[in-house]
Amino acid sequence: MTVIDKDALKRKYAEERDKRLRPDGNDQYIRLSDRFAHYLDDPYTPVAERAPVTDHVTVAFIGGGFAGLVTGARLKESGIDDVRIVEKGGDFGGTWYWNRYPGAQCDTASFVYMPLLEETGHMPSEKYAHAPEILEHCQRIGKQFGLYDNALFHTEVTGLEWDDPGSRWIVRTNRGDEFTARFLAMGTGPLHVPKLPGIPGIEEFRGHAFHTSRWDYAYTGGDPAGAPMDRLADERVGIIGTGATAVQCVPHLARACRELYVFQRTPSSVDVRDNRPTDPDWFATIATPGWQQRWLENFTANQTGALTDEDLVMDGWTDLARRVRSRIMSLPPDQFTPEGMMAAFEDSDFEKMEEIRARVDAVVDDPATAQALKAWYRQLCKRPCFHDEYLQAFNEPGTHLVDTDGKGVERITEAGVVAAGVEYEVDCIVFASGFEVGTDYTRRAGYDPVGRDGVRLSEHWADGMRTLHGIHVHGFPNMFIVQPTQGANLISNIPHNLTESGRTIAVMIRHALDNGWDQIEVTEQAEDAWIDLLLSNPGPGIIGSPDCTPGYYNNEGQPLGKGRQLFVGYPMGAMAFFRYIDDWRTSGDFEGVEFR
Ligand code: NDP
Repeated sequence: MTVIDKDALKRKYAEERDKRLRPDGNDQYIRLSDRFAHYLDDPYTPVAERAPVTDHVTVAFIGGGFAGLVTGARLKESGIDDVRIVEKGGDFGGTWYWNRYPGAQCDTASFVYMPLLEETGHMPSEKYAHAPEILEHCQRIGKQFGLYDNALFHTEVTGLEWDDPGSRWIVRTNRGDEFTARFLAMGTGPLHVPKLPGIPGIEEFRGHAFHTSRWDYAYTGGDPAGAPMDRLADERVGIIGTGATAVQCVPHLARACRELYVFQRTPSSVDVRDNRPTDPDWFATIATPGWQQRWLENFTANQTGALTDEDLVMDGWTDLARRVRSRIMSLPPDQFTPEGMMAAFEDSDFEKMEEIRARVDAVVDDPATAQALKAWYRQLCKRPCFHDEYLQAFNEPGTHLVDTDGKGVERITEAGVVAAGVEYEVDCIVFASGFEVGTDYTRRAGYDPVGRDGVRLSEHWADGMRTLHGIHVHGFPNMFIVQPTQGANLISNIPHNLTESGRTIAVMIRHALDNGWDQIEVTEQAEDAWIDLLLSNPGPGIIGSPDCTPGYYNNEGQPLGKGRQLFVGYPMGAMAFFRYIDDWRTSGDFEGVEFR
């Protein structure tokens, strides 16, 4: 067994982080407005003219991704018919509407990642389904639960205002709509606003350029289902960024382009994917009543280190947790302390990352390229990636890794991309540069809800996000938020957070309607107590840690400040939160929330 020099590794991790720290943090990125606004255009669906809507609905939901779909489905199941989803894309799907780049697939096993499988009777075709299947599943949910009837696509909310005497929200949009809704919920997702790197000269480039979330198949040829991108055969393409998106699309570009230059600032950690088709006979054995909830709970338990007898999903997410647990369980009694457990966690992490680095050497032929592709940080410092063709792509003769040693691309010129003083001429630049995360919520949302007494959400959150359960905000009656933070905060399977919130919201709205209540609002005391509870966690853990290499998980390495509240979850863990919230909503007391 190889002995790991932990001190040397820690020094290396710190050196690599320091190379990448920059004072401008999130400000290094360009917002896609004004002359960059065309990067946001929808390449998939033409925008249809329609008359403005001026009616009233029981529930308006902003966002037609998983959050809106699962909440909408629960509302419909509970007999609430007029649910209106407002969505900026041309159809349902959210992330899966926009991200149609070649090779896009889910990174968490389909059986737990794709929501409402049992309700829709859908069997995922693969352990990690590809994007077209997930988009189709979103449409399936929309159809089955009648969510298309009232939806407004290609529509962005521009204003939300609480009308207290009328106990309703006034919703205004960029399509001239002005309608009212008794209840308002939003699930706009943390990663829906693409960003570009603020590289000098970016606007000078004369070739073609697009962001991965608006893949231009008209330029590349091919399609999201995997048809080869035949129009790239004579093209030189540069891709900027090597995060989870690039890891999935680089193998496809490598096959299609004459020359592909992959500009890397920080390597991703790329573990084994081991995807496989679903065997229908096997699926029939697991798909017994209640199966998906059992799988969800089992994955979450395994992934968060709870004691479980079996690991149904068995993948890279649960592997790390399994290793940590077995190390902790084998600690001698005198080391069974919080410090001893943290050390065991760190040892497993070092071991796992050494394996991932060894895999690079085993796969990549050129030793210098292999060395540059190794990730030097703890596994959850950045989004872990899993792929069986990404590293292999660097063995293709036309694929070149341009490692910038943490500095990033230097400049963009009329003809190409400059890194470390060398200009690489390219015909097309693909920006795999990610999405805005650490910017203000209201900037990302494009609206700033005005609650009771004219208070804006940005004012209420001036010192950081404040909610009860990540759902309710004091001063904003009848408004609900559907997202992971300040709740379970389970990042390995975001949809699990959303389906639970959808359930909670449907139960509460049903309760209000059945009992004739006009308003639902969390009390100030309950919101304060919840935030105090969340902040009692000494955190941040690895995710959000300033010891990590910069990225969106840790606010680009800048102090979290009020942003810390974006990274907090229930201190007792995700499983405990799911149990707690189930008791909370089924008890009928809804402690901390007033019905008026
Ligand atoms: P990321 O933010 O993860 O990656 C952006 C990339 O751009 C990073 O490699 C970053 O480098 C690089 N970059 C930024 N500026 C420069 C520069 N000036 N020069 C060179 N490189 C630069 O975005 P992704 O779209 O890859 O992923 C975002 C998230 O979306 C993922 O973390 C994941 O949560 C989700 N996702 C999920 C998938 C799934 O589940 N299947 C698939 C794809 C994405 P650096 O690291 O140094 O900042």
